[in-house]
Amino acid sequence: MPPSVPPDADPAVLLLSGGLDSTTLLAIARSEGRTVHALTFRYGQRHRGEIEVARRVAEAFGVAAHVVADIDLRMFGGSALTSDVAVPKDRSSEDLGHGIPVTYVPARNTIFLSFALAWAEVLGAGEIFIGVNALDFSGYPDCRPEYIAAYEHMANLATRAGVEGTRPVRIRAPLIALTKAQIIRRGMALGVDYAATTSCYDPAGDGAACGHCDACQLRRRGFAEAGIADPTRYAA
Ligand code: ZN
Repeated sequence: MPPSVPPDADPAVLLLSGGLDSTTLLAIARSEGRTVHALTFRYGQRHRGEIEVARRVAEAFGVAAHVVADIDLRMFGGSALTSDVAVPKDRSSEDLGHGIPVTYVPARNTIFLSFALAWAEVLGAGEIFIGVNALDFSGYPDCRPEYIAAYEHMANLATRAGVEGTRPVRIRAPLIALTKAQIIRRGMALGVDYAATTSCYDPAGDGAACGHCDACQLRRRGFAEAGIADPTRYAA
């Protein structure tokens, strides 16, 4: 634990992938003075380099604890991120805005939030931070505000803290109504180094971003709209 982080009576659990959104989320939580317990998943994702990125991001922001949970979702497959299905490249803006793409990982946010909820209950944490985004969201059903509201309702039915009314759990999704450009501007104001984050679904062996998957396209567009030079290292 970094010396700058005192033991805290008001911890929060935060889902951290090392991507642009969750890194900004971490910066926001820390700017609110929250003692963050970061949770990252090694779930069989093809872009598993993000786990090491998450470690560095967690350290840079002085989290109180960082857990990397092993849950191999390749046992089910069903997604281009957890099977041999090819990651779509160079999709049009029209396609990006419609339908649920093959990079959707079945029930991923429900699985991730459930692990976060378990840890939150153990810690006595009243808030779980998740970096979902409903505007530039690639059509994922578990990134919508109604999903987050329903999960929060369920969480308070599912836990001892919720039932006894001692510590209701809130699901915090401060990025949900922001554009990618707004997220980037917010992060820059909070000192996020986006060169140290990774978003690509299909990076090269050395970690360079492909520049063509949905995540790369949304990220690149976000920097352009924010009027900020894109610091991402792309494959040649
Ligand atoms: Zn990519």
